[in-house]
Amino acid sequence: MPPRTSRAIVQTAPRHLELRELPLPDIDDDSGLLRIEACGICGSDAEQYAGVLPVRLPVVPGHEPLGIVERVGDRAAKRWRVEVGDRVAVEAPIPCGRCPACRSGRYQVCRARGFLFGHGYVPLAHSPGLWGGYADYMYLDPCSIVHRVRKDIPAALAVMFNPLGAGFRWAVEIPRTGPGDTVLVLGPGQRGLASVIAARAAGADTIIVTGLSRDAPKLALAREFGADHVIDIEAEDARTRVRELTGGRGADVVVEVTANAPEPVAEALHYAATGGRIVLAGVKGLKAVPEFVSDLVVMKELAILGAFAVTSRGYESAIRLIESGRVPLERMHTHDFRLEDAELAIRTLAGEVPGETSVHSCLRP
Ligand SMILES: [Zn+2]
Ligand SMILES: [Zn+2]
Repeated sequence: MPPRTSRAIVQTAPRHLELRELPLPDIDDDSGLLRIEACGICGSDAEQYAGVLPVRLPVVPGHEPLGIVERVGDRAAKRWRVEVGDRVAVEAPIPCGRCPACRSGRYQVCRARGFLFGHGYVPLAHSPGLWGGYADYMYLDPCSIVHRVRKDIPAALAVMFNPLGAGFRWAVEIPRTGPGDTVLVLGPGQRGLASVIAARAAGADTIIVTGLSRDAPKLALAREFGADHVIDIEAEDARTRVRELTGGRGADVVVEVTANAPEPVAEALHYAATGGRIVLAGVKGLKAVPEFVSDLVVMKELAILGAFAVTSRGYESAIRLIESGRVPLERMHTHDFRLEDAELAIRTLAGEVPGETSVHSCLRP
């Protein structure tokens, strides 16, 4: 007898999660059902948990799902080029495919079905409810976007398609990083490390990563993944170090992926070379940036580029890299959590659990 219900974590209020049994959806010709193998956890999960993101509750969180196609409609199978038993990575956005944003290729900012319409964000009240990856099973909408991933890769590594996809989009695609470029990554979290891996894969010349003193293990990991230099901004004068390391020119590409603190955005203007590209991808809780000297943007002709989420090209690059086995990604994976420990998982990632440092972690139902 196939199961009729799925365990799922439901967020009912800020900082409140509960484990429930939810009915499995009916699958028609255009939809599918995913059996979750792993769901990645990132900084925005912690913001969602804290109630900072504008997400309607109650909701099943989890926007980085990886799993096995359990059921799939005939038309959906053709459209997604998958069959039952295939492993797929699922993108968070569920775009309409028809609005001006979708038609111009910016489907990640599609608002046709509301802001943040995607896996992990659609509320329980919106049928069939099982929209998030913090569950045994997840509904695949006709407009969900899936990518096949080889099944012999350990799930904890395969689920890194999400942070690595961000690295490819934010550190390579958006700033058009290529051979000869000096790339400076601000922040050595999972996105920062993914940016190092992606910039290295794209043939960047010199890669530099900044962090705080307490980030020493993550900075060491950055070196393992191909960073040439790391800077502890509490122990060294970062502006001077960047100048020294770039022969006085500054960095061609600066990728800002620190969490919450707005100050690195202002610093990025000082680190960038004339004509440099600065990618802003770390969110700051809508705080203003103090000491932002706009004259530097003018005088150095800097390009400041916003990066919101990841798109299919970044995910495809990430999946190819994961499947290549060329990078010791397991060095970045620090924690597996059971579904019922979702709260602990989020608090660990947010640094609220003494003695635990999380780089990449996931839920394994
Ligand atoms: Zn995420
Ligand atoms: Zn759209």
